[in-house]
Order: sequence, then structure tokens, then C-alpha cells
Amino acid sequence: MESQRRSNPQLRRGICYANDGKQQERSPSVIVIGGGMAGIAAARALQDASFQVVILESRKRLGGRIHTDYSFGFPVDLGASWLHGVCKENPLAPVIGKLGLPLYRTSWDNSVLYDHDLESYALFDTDGNQVPQELVTKVGEQFEIVLKEANKVRQEFSEDMSISRALSIVFERRPDLRLEGLAHKVLQWYLCRMEGWFAADADTISLKSWDQEELLPGGHGLMVRGYLPVINTLAKGLDIRLGHRVTKIVRRYNGVKVTVENGTIFVADAAVIAVPLGVLKAKSIKFEPKLPDWKEAAIADLGVGIENKIILHFENVFWPNVEFLGVVAETSYGCSYFLNLHKATGRPVLVYMPAGQLAKDIEKMSNEAAANFAFTQLKRILPDASSPIQYLVSRWASDVNSLGSYTYDTVGKPHDLYEKLRIPVDNLFFAGEATSMSYPGSVHGAFSTGIMAAEDCRMRVLERYGEWDLFQPVMGEEASVCVPLLISRL
Ligand SMILES: Cc1cc2nc3c(=O)[nH]c(=O)nc-3n(C[C@H](O)[C@H](O)[C@H](O)COP(=O)(O)OP(=O)(O)OC[C@H]3O[C@@H](n4cnc5c(N)ncnc54)[C@H](O)[C@@H]3O)c2cc1C
Repeated sequence: MESQRRSNPQLRRGICYANDGKQQERSPSVIVIGGGMAGIAAARALQDASFQVVILESRKRLGGRIHTDYSFGFPVDLGASWLHGVCKENPLAPVIGKLGLPLYRTSWDNSVLYDHDLESYALFDTDGNQVPQELVTKVGEQFEIVLKEANKVRQEFSEDMSISRALSIVFERRPDLRLEGLAHKVLQWYLCRMEGWFAADADTISLKSWDQEELLPGGHGLMVRGYLPVINTLAKGLDIRLGHRVTKIVRRYNGVKVTVENGTIFVADAAVIAVPLGVLKAKSIKFEPKLPDWKEAAIADLGVGIENKIILHFENVFWPNVEFLGVVAETSYGCSYFLNLHKATGRPVLVYMPAGQLAKDIEKMSNEAAANFAFTQLKRILPDASSPIQYLVSRWASDVNSLGSYTYDTVGKPHDLYEKLRIPVDNLFFAGEATSMSYPGSVHGAFSTGIMAAEDCRMRVLERYGEWDLFQPVMGEEASVCVPLLISRL
């Protein structure tokens, strides 16, 4: 359906045949912009429903914020690595189950606070002394009491405020909840983990919305062999143009015209826009006519957080046999944590995961300096640590293809912005994690929005041309076949 600097014959044919009754030759066309999980899910569904689909992807690879790297000789994920909600209700369960991809469950918890069970942590202070496990548990319980008190603050104040402001109010009112010394540092570590979930600092997270996200049951499972096989499977047989950065989208009553950086023009009946919120915020894609004000407001008001991964590959394992190593400190900014991939994959790998301002600051460093920074944190808790033999560093905030890691609710903005971002504008359909009301910031959320955008697009084209018999249901019967997930540990 591609057309270079001329109108699309398929498009012309489509409209023409709709009028003269030659249904069998009519084939509606859609351009999907962005080859991440949302774009691929939309393209797959539309192609399965007999649409002509092309994916325009700016990078030289598919997957977007799913980025499995194989340079260590085995898979490691620089972007998403957990399936949040290890259950058959998870929209990704059918494909993961059918591929037989193993998961390693790190927690059964369904709140946004703990994607790791408490007993699997080992926390240390900056002098390398391990924090007694009873203290970790006790402070964890205290943190939950503090959050319950913060909930009371939420109910009292009509205005929204940040999590950090709410915590200050709680500590002013309940000095008995204030902690000193090591216990205070452990509390800061819990706060740091919470900030990690949102990829944002507590002074920017909305008190009103922080726990409004819907979590699927079944806990959190690491994709032991990486997320990429899911992308590759869904992308099989699709027309994908890598290295095609979209710069302009023109929408008219009878179709869309999409311009790529090198000047190539694609036209189709409709477009699915599945680029990250950060890219929409940067306005690097021009819309003609411009997007309505309510859509622009949603783009401006949703927050994009930053989380990065510094992946350290060692010769041997020299650290304790726990899933998470943490460093506690006076402030949440000074705290840090390492995911021990050895538990899940058997490889001698630790993943350092800074978020918020710390992640931003580390992105200013060279890759080598960033890896050194992570290793220095490790040395503080394990002074005999040997140097890594290889490392990988992600830069999700400065990468022009993402401009951030994932979406979160900022202070004072309504939670329905996700839905506003999703609502179509004429023949433009929006998908991506930031358009998911229920599961923002997640892979399965991105997948669901791709399916939703495809369905909306299909309905619109059918309404317009009235040719119901031509199409298959968007999700073929195959997708509903249930194959159990392969889960280890619990
Ligand atoms: C470090 C990190 C850890 C994470 N961990 C998890 C996790 O464990 N579990 C989980 O569920 N989620 C996690 N997430 C979130 C998850 O990765 C995302 O929610 C999801 O992958 C987003 O998919 P998407 O399709 O919406 O966007 P993307 O995957 O970002 O896809 C958008 C695509 O658009 C392309 N693009 C950008 N601009 C243009 C343009 N102008 N023209 C054409 N193409 C363009 C991009 O290159 C990209 O391929 C994590 C994210 C990060 C960064």
C-alpha cells in the first residue's frame, strides 16, 4: 500500500469500489506508526482482519521499550523484563504460554509497592553492614502505616498534592512514626522502591492517583529468556519498514498522508499512532490540521518518568543468593538496588536500576562512567566485588525514539488523561502504554491498547464503507486458546 510522492492506488480503489459495489477487490489500508508492542499488536490485529498494513518504525530494530540484548551471549532486557500479572487474564498470557517462554515469579504481591517479596531482599548500609531482616520487615510494616496515614490526608484535602508533601504532613501530625538512624534509611529505601515503580521522584507523584492503577492477579514474573521473542512472534509476516522516522501526519476526510524523515510519503485510509508519549510531547511529529486542544492537553499533562538499567556481567557470582540487593541511605536519592539475574537465569549478572532524578543525572555520564557509578554502589556493600567483564547502559530519556521510560500521574492532573490520549481523532487512532487507563506503563497495557486501536479503526472503516462480510474478527479464534504459563520459584 506504499506510495512514494503520489496517491495510494489502494486507497483510491478502496473508495471507488465501495461506491460501485466491487467488494471483493476492496482492501482498506492502515499505516501504523511505531513498532513497539502497541504498534505491532495493532498491526497484527488489523492484518488478521484483512487490512493492508505497513508499520513505520524509526529505529533500526523492532520492540521499542522492549529491548532484549544478546551481546553477552545470552538474553538480557534493557527495557521491560517483568510480566506484571502472571495469570491467564493477562492479555499477553496466550502468546507467552503458546511460545513456552518461562517466567520467574519474583513476587505474589498485587499492589504497586512490591514486585519483590520482602524475604528475598538483602539490604546493606553504605558501610557494607547488612540490615537485620527483622528491621527490614518492621520498617516495611511502618511504611504501610505511613501510607495509610497519607490516605487520610488525601481524603481531607480536596486539592491533590505530591507523595512527598503528604508524607511531610503525616510526619508532622504523627511524630511517633518518624524513624531515626538505620530505620530511617530503610524507610527511605522503601520510598526509593516506590519511586522506581513510577520512574519518578516522590515530589512529582500524585497522591490522588498513585494507587489507582489496576494490577492483575498472579504477582510479577520475570521473562527469563527476554521479551523479544514475544515481539518477533507477533511481528511475523507484517510489512515493517525500519529506519522510517515519521515527521508529519496529514489527515483528511478520505485518508491520511504520512511523511517520513527522508521525504517518502505513505497514504492510507487511517493511521494508528503508537509512538511514545515523550515523542508526542517533543512535537517532533507535526499534525495537520493540528490535534484538538483536549488531546494536546492530555499529551502535556501526563508525566513521563525515567528508569534506566545498568547491566553488569561478571565472571563469577560473588554476591548473596537473594533476588534483590539494596543500599539504604539518608535520602531516597542516595538509595539503590540491584536485581540479581542469577536467581532467575543462572547467569552472573546484576542489574542496577536508577529512577527519577538519579536516572536523569546518570544519563549525563558516559557509558563507562555510568557502569563505574553502579559498580561503586556495589563496592560499598560488597567491598571484595570483582570488576564486571562487560556492561550495558540504557538511556531511555535521551533516546529520541522514547524520550522517557513510562507514563505516570503527575500532581493535580486527572487520571482520565490516559483515556483522552487514547480517543481517536477522525481517522487517527492512538495506542501505546500511555493510552491505557487500566495498565499504564506496562507491556500488557501497550498490547491491549494496540488491540483496542485496531478494533476502533476496523469499526470506523466498516461504518464508513459498510462492508462487514469482508473482515475476520480482530482477534482470531487461535488467540483464545489457553496454554498454561511456565512459572518457576513459587
Ligand atoms: C527500563 C524500563 C523498564 C521497564 N520494565 C517494565 C516491566 O518490567 N514490565 C512491563 O510491563 N513494562 C515495563 N516497562 C514499560 C514497557 O516497556 C512499556 O510500557 C512498553 O514496552 C511500551 O510499548 P509501546 O508500544 O507503548 O511503546 P514503545 O515500545 O516505545 O514503541 C514505540 C515505538 O515508536 C517508535 N517511534 C518513536 N518515534 C517515532 C517516529 N517519529 N516515527 C516512527 N516510529 C517512531 C519507537 O522507536 C518505538 O519502537 C519498562 C520500560 C522501561 C524503559
